[in-house]
Formats: sequence, structure tokens, C-alpha cells
Amino acid sequence: MKQGNKNLITNYSSAKYSWLKSGGKISHLHKIFRQNNLIDLFNVDEIKEKSLLVIGNLSNTLIKDEGFNGVGIKLAGDFTSVQIKTDYMLVGAAVLDNYLSKFCYQNSISGYEFLYTIPGSIGGNIFMNAGCYNQEIKDKLISVIFFDIYDNKVYEKNINELQFDYRRGFQKKNTIILYGKFKIQHGNQKYIKNLMLEYESIRNHTQPQKVNCCGSIFKNPLNHSAWKLIKSSIDKSFYEGPIKLSKIHSNFFENDPNISANSIDSFITKIQKKVKDKHKILLEKELRIID
Ligand SMILES: Cc1cc2nc3c(=O)[nH]c(=O)nc-3n(C[C@H](O)[C@H](O)[C@H](O)COP(=O)(O)OP(=O)(O)OC[C@H]3O[C@@H](n4cnc5c(N)ncnc54)[C@H](O)[C@@H]3O)c2cc1C
Repeated sequence: MKQGNKNLITNYSSAKYSWLKSGGKISHLHKIFRQNNLIDLFNVDEIKEKSLLVIGNLSNTLIKDEGFNGVGIKLAGDFTSVQIKTDYMLVGAAVLDNYLSKFCYQNSISGYEFLYTIPGSIGGNIFMNAGCYNQEIKDKLISVIFFDIYDNKVYEKNINELQFDYRRGFQKKNTIILYGKFKIQHGNQKYIKNLMLEYESIRNHTQPQKVNCCGSIFKNPLNHSAWKLIKSSIDKSFYEGPIKLSKIHSNFFENDPNISANSIDSFITKIQKKVKDKHKILLEKELRIID
């Protein structure tokens, strides 16, 4: 429901827009079209004191049923474009992976084929250090441009100054990722296209399609595959019901739309416990659960 301020959405339904088609409401979601909107918003001290949640394409986020009662941020406008500069690409955090991959193909820029199959946004990728097929977003990044809500200022940090790790990217508290500066390497268009299609085909054969899901539930522990640990720890009841593990990939679950987010959380905790009991390994969630 929109209020007088057209950039503020109250009671935003994450269940409607998330990939899981489940999740509580965001009490106040501010749509940010340009940098000045952020400066105006965070000029007010009481706003800085509230908890902050930035959402991208909600492909890796589950908001618990009680909802999020703080300051929600959704980037739009200026943050949805890609600009080619002399020796880098300036990519807005709200640009979708699939769009960037196709943009790079059209401009004969190689190295972004893997993003063709990830359903997130660049902001979400930089936060998560998203990756697949032996590539991660950090390999392509030159620097991250972000807004600090306390200083009310924009900063830029070079990738060499940042400690990105497996599925852990730029997670500095009280900041909003605005842009990534990305490397440009030119390549053969036909080769780029073929690689995009090859990645798509691999994914279609190894992961469930057209279901409500969040990608991998857990990170792979060092020297282990989460799906193997899960498969060897659970009984077949986990593959049945309104929230169930995928028979194609045991580190994915599928759920009926509008199912309670808290019941998804309990399902995940049950799996974690089974693996811990059987293998003495505590799986770390890749899915971001917000409460
Ligand atoms: C079918 C499917 C397949 C997937 N496959 C992969 C895969 O192969 N590899 C992989 O790594 N992931 C994969 N994922 C997970 C997901 O797509 C990635 O984690 C992606 O990077 C999330 O982007 P998002 O925009 O959807 O982020 P969201 O889910 O909206 O947010 C994720 C986190 O990033 C934070 N965030 C988002 N934008 C910003 C910003 N601008 N500033 C600060 N914080 C921000 C959020 O607060 C949240 O904590 C898959 C998901 C699905 C549904």
C-alpha cells in the first residue's frame, strides 16, 4: 500500500516478490532512485537508529513471519544502469545478473557468462560474493561504491582492501552497496553466447526449475558437499510435504507459495540438526533469514 510519499511503501509483502514466495512484511520500504534520496532520508537521526535491511531481487532472503520493522531500502532509478567507461564498467547495484550477462554479450565483454544463470542483483551478488562454475563476483570486481548511513557519505573501496570469501562479500554494517566497478575484457561473441547456453543447460539438468526456492540452502563446508551430507543424514519424509527437499538436489528445497516463513526456518533447522547428529558438522546457512 502506498502512502503520501510516493517513494515509501508500507507493509511491503516479501511473500509476493521473493523467489520463495514466502515471508513477512517490511513495515517501511523506501525506494531510492538517486544518491540524494539517501542523503535526505538518512539526514534524520532517528532513521539512523532503526535497523536497516536492503533488498535486492529477494532470491536469497527469507523474512520471518513477524516481518521486518525497520528501514527497508530498495534501489531503483540510477542504480539500474550499466555504463561502459574507458577501462571499467560501472554497474548499479539494482542491475539484475541476467541483464548484465546479456549486456556483456551484446558488447562482446567476456567473463560474465556465469551471471546468466543466477537470479539475483549486483548488490546481492556483492553482499554474498555470489558465484558458480568456479567463478565468483570478486574475481570481476575492481571496487565497491557504497553509502554509509551514519556518515551520510559515499565511499569507494578497492577489492584488494576487502576480505571477500566463499559466499561472503561486502557485509559492512550500516552500509548500502550502490555500484560495483567491474573489469572489462573483450571476447568473441559466439564463444560468450555458447558459454551462457552451456551454463544454462548444466543448471537445467542439475537443479530444480520453476519451483519456489532460494538456490543452495547451506554453504558447502570445506572438503564436503552439503547435498551429500544432507542426503546421507535424512529419511525420505524430508522429500515430501509443502516444504520438501528437491529430489534433484538435496541442498535445495521447494515450498508451496505463502507457506509460513517460520515453518521454512524450522525445516532448515531440522536438516541442520540431522547432519550435525550424523556427521558432527554444523552446516552454515547460505540463505539469509531476517527476523
Ligand atoms: C534458483 C536459484 C539459483 C541460485 N543459484 C545461485 C548460484 O549459483 N550461486 C550463488 O552464489 N547464489 C545463487 N543463488 C542465490 C542468490 O541468487 C544470490 O545469493 C544472489 O547474489 C542474491 O541476490 P539478490 O539481489 O536476490 O539478493 P537478496 O536476496 O535481495 O539479498 C541477499 C543479501 O544481500 C543484501 N543486499 C542485497 N542488495 C544489497 C545492497 N545493494 N546493499 C547492501 N546489501 C544488499 C541483503 O540485505 C541480503 O542480506 C540462487 C538463488 C536461486 C533462487
